[in-house]
Amino acid sequence: MELTWLGHSSFRLDAGGKRIYIDPFLNGNPKCPENEQTPERVDVIAITHAHGDHLGDTVDLSKQHGCTVIAPVELADWLQGKHKLENVRDPNKGGTVDLDGVRFTLTDANHSSSNNDLEYMGEPCGIVVRAEGKSVYFAGDTNVFGDMGTVIARLYKPDVAVLPIGDNYTMGPEEAALAVELLGVKRVVPCHYGTFPVLTGTPDALAEKVGGDVKVEKIAPGESVTI
Ligand SMILES: [Zn+2]
Repeated sequence: MELTWLGHSSFRLDAGGKRIYIDPFLNGNPKCPENEQTPERVDVIAITHAHGDHLGDTVDLSKQHGCTVIAPVELADWLQGKHKLENVRDPNKGGTVDLDGVRFTLTDANHSSSNNDLEYMGEPCGIVVRAEGKSVYFAGDTNVFGDMGTVIARLYKPDVAVLPIGDNYTMGPEEAALAVELLGVKRVVPCHYGTFPVLTGTPDALAEKVGGDVKVEKIAPGESVTI
């Protein structure tokens, strides 16, 4: 699997022959590289929650590319009802959507979720993507919580964890270091930092707090890691 950071909490994941966008906040994202703002191909979009910095360009991209959209159930209902999106899958936490062998499982996340009109959009989630014998955990926006160890590590055995570290709206480096320990991962891709001044956490601060055997991937927007 090839994971490309598009700035903030937005990623492209090439897995199982599919081009997947996670939380595609491209236009309006000050850290999204210009050449990534208009994707040529989108097969699947998976969204953790409805906040604008995660829902991003989902509606436009879905209408343009006719891709499958995976979203927590209330957000999925709103996308279908209000925005008339087709091809929407609506799991809830613990549920798995299998698209030709690429499996998307929604996990818990401790955060909030509303649209720009402050309408309730269900609970926020994390997403585990499993394909090609590998597992990657996108925590979404959250603090650290114990089930990262008792549930997510135990069941989904992520090879890589994608964790927010910016602080203020999500966990910062201190909590993220505990998340790494609970998850038992040896590779972390940090995100949700540096986009706006209030998101002060840094990969260096995380690297200082995790064990020496853990690799913190300090990639720039537009760069990729292989999973
Ligand atoms: Zn966010």
